[in-house]
Amino acid sequence: MQVAVFSSKTYDREYLEAANISLNHELVFFEPSLNPQTAPLAAGFPVVCGFINDCLDAQTLRILAQQGTQFIALRSAGFNHVDLQTAAQLGLTVARVPAYSPYAVAEHAVALVLMLNRKLYRAYNRVRDDNFSLEGLLGFDLHGCSVGIVGTGKIGQCFAQIMKGFGCHLLAYDPFPNPDCLALGVTYLDLTDLMARANIISLHCPLTPESHHLINHQSLQSVQPGTMLINTSRGGLIDTVAVIDAIKSGRLGYLGIDVYEQEEQLFFRDLSDTVIQDDDFQRLQSFPNVLITAHQAFFTRDALENIAATTLGNITDFALGRPCPNQVQWDPTKVS
Ligand code: NAD
Repeated sequence: MQVAVFSSKTYDREYLEAANISLNHELVFFEPSLNPQTAPLAAGFPVVCGFINDCLDAQTLRILAQQGTQFIALRSAGFNHVDLQTAAQLGLTVARVPAYSPYAVAEHAVALVLMLNRKLYRAYNRVRDDNFSLEGLLGFDLHGCSVGIVGTGKIGQCFAQIMKGFGCHLLAYDPFPNPDCLALGVTYLDLTDLMARANIISLHCPLTPESHHLINHQSLQSVQPGTMLINTSRGGLIDTVAVIDAIKSGRLGYLGIDVYEQEEQLFFRDLSDTVIQDDDFQRLQSFPNVLITAHQAFFTRDALENIAATTLGNITDFALGRPCPNQVQWDPTKVS
C-alpha cells in the first residue's frame, strides 16, 4: 500500500522502515507538515500518515479525498487535530495509536517536576560556569506533597504510581474514576477542590471541547500560592494568558510544559536563527520558574517502536480490508 508520510523526521523514517521490513508497504516520506498547501503532495496515495501538528481540518481532508486518499493513519494517540465529522462525511477512515508507552509520557512529567523543584536546569548551567553557590536553588521534599492528577487514564495512572513511590498524597479529577487508581489510594475530587488542595497539578486528560482552557483565570483563583502546574497533555488545556498572570502574581510557583497552545508554529523544528513572533511564548520563556520542552514526552525508543508497529498494523488492516480496532469514529452526540 502506498503511504504518504507527512512531518517525517529522521527518527520516523528509521523506526517506520524497520517495522515495515516484513510488511512491504511503499512508504514515501515528506518532511513538510500536512496542510491545505502541502496536501497535493499526497495525490494518488490511498493512505496518508500524519502526526500531532499536521492540520487535518475540513479543507485538507477534502483535498485528500478528492485526490484518492481513503485512510488517515495517525502516528499519535490524540486526534483533536482531525475534523472527524468531515472525515466521516467524505468516507475517510481515521485510525490512531491509542497506547504506545504511557510510561514515556508519565516519566517525562515526573522529570519536569524534579527539574523544576530542584532547579536542575539552573544548577547544571551554574556548575559548568564554575559557580558552586546554592543561592536560589532551594527545593522542597516531594514526600508528603499533595499531587492532583487531572485525567487518570493510562498516562495519569502511570504518573500516580510513580508519585506514590515518592510518598505523595494522590488526588484526582476524572469524570470516570479508574478502579486501579482507587486501589492505589487516589482520592477523587471535583476540579475546584483538587486545584485548591494540590501542591502539584499534572494534566493527563485529552483536549476536547469540554476540556479546552480547563486551566483558566477562574480555575486558577482557587490554587494555593506557589502551586506547580505540569502539562504534558495538550496545549489547549491551558489558557496561556491566564497562566502568565498566575505566574506573575505568584499563584503559580512553577510551570512545566511539554505542550503549548500555538506549538504548531514552533515545535519540531530548529528556529534558533529566527525571531520568535509569539509574544506569549517569549513571555513564558522569560520566567525563571518556567520549564518548556518541545513535545518530547513521547520520545523514547520503546514508544517509537510501538508507534511504528501499530501505525503499520493499522495500514495493513486497511490494505487487507479488515476492521481496524484503532479506528477513531466521529461521535455525533459530542458536537462542540
Ligand atoms: P486515556 O484515554 O487513557 O485517558 C484519558 C483520561 O482522561 C480518561 O480517564 C478520561 O476519562 C479522562 N478525561 C476525559 N476528559 C476529561 C476532563 N475534561 N477532565 C478530566 N479528565 C478527563 O489517555 P492517555 O493515553 O492517558 O493520554 C492522555 C493524553 O495525553 C492524550 O489525550 C494526549 O493528549 C496526551 N499525550 C501527550 C503526549 C506527549 O508526547 N506530550 C503523548 C501521548 C499522549
